[in-house]
Amino acid sequence: MTRPPDPLHTTLRTAYARYQRQAGRWLDGYTRQGGQVYCGAGCFRCCDMPIRVSLAEARLTASELTAAQLNGMRQHARKTIRNARSARSLEQYVERHRQEVGFCPLLDREQGVCTAYEVRPTRCRDTYSAFPARYCAAGALEDMTRQELQAYRREVRRTPGTDGESHYIAPLEELSEPVWTQAARAMRQAWGLEVWGDFWVLTSLATDDAFMRAVEAGQADPARRRARALGLEHPELLEFA
Ligand code: SF4
Ligand code: SF4
Repeated sequence: MTRPPDPLHTTLRTAYARYQRQAGRWLDGYTRQGGQVYCGAGCFRCCDMPIRVSLAEARLTASELTAAQLNGMRQHARKTIRNARSARSLEQYVERHRQEVGFCPLLDREQGVCTAYEVRPTRCRDTYSAFPARYCAAGALEDMTRQELQAYRREVRRTPGTDGESHYIAPLEELSEPVWTQAARAMRQAWGLEVWGDFWVLTSLATDDAFMRAVEAGQADPARRRARALGLEHPELLEFA
């Protein structure tokens, strides 16, 4: 028997499609006016950044992954949690995530492609760079001399589409706001609570029956206890609202 589509998945797929249309229109205008976007097939230096998602998104991603991919996600989630538990600051957490935890297991590094492209989360959809990929690499800014950093900041300020602080394209990030809002609303309607956190942690938890039963019953404490039993609990990587 064919299972009816999950309403949360439908909400997100619709929101993603709307974002793609709007982002496409924005990009057309930007490039027509001479703006340059460096993202494209085979480019993946950003796939080692920490990613925040809603559980609704994580569940959609999980629903399309193979057993081997899910296994990779669980291993990555454990490494992410270990890093978060021992990091002394947010900066150290992000730096070690990129340098040591490493690339997302859904990345095929040989081909340079996302193996879950259709169900990648919002953050992977709305990150666009107005500078070449070498500026997105881990440590790129940290390794610059003072003069290089000053030149970088000048270039960022004079590049349309940036927020003046970094080389990522700000309006394309702002355009994804409705996706986050709709995910929040859909979770509240379905479960009576919202769950937010790390992409790999939530995707792993989304496949755990006991965790999802607690969430679907709107029970944050049992869900948190289950995550703790699985070694996937951390106050910043798993949040209930
Ligand atoms: S954000 Fe940077 S690394 Fe990521 S696809 Fe775009 S140019 Fe490449
Ligand atoms: S889900 Fe895909 S696009 Fe996002 S970090 Fe992983 S490999 Fe990269």
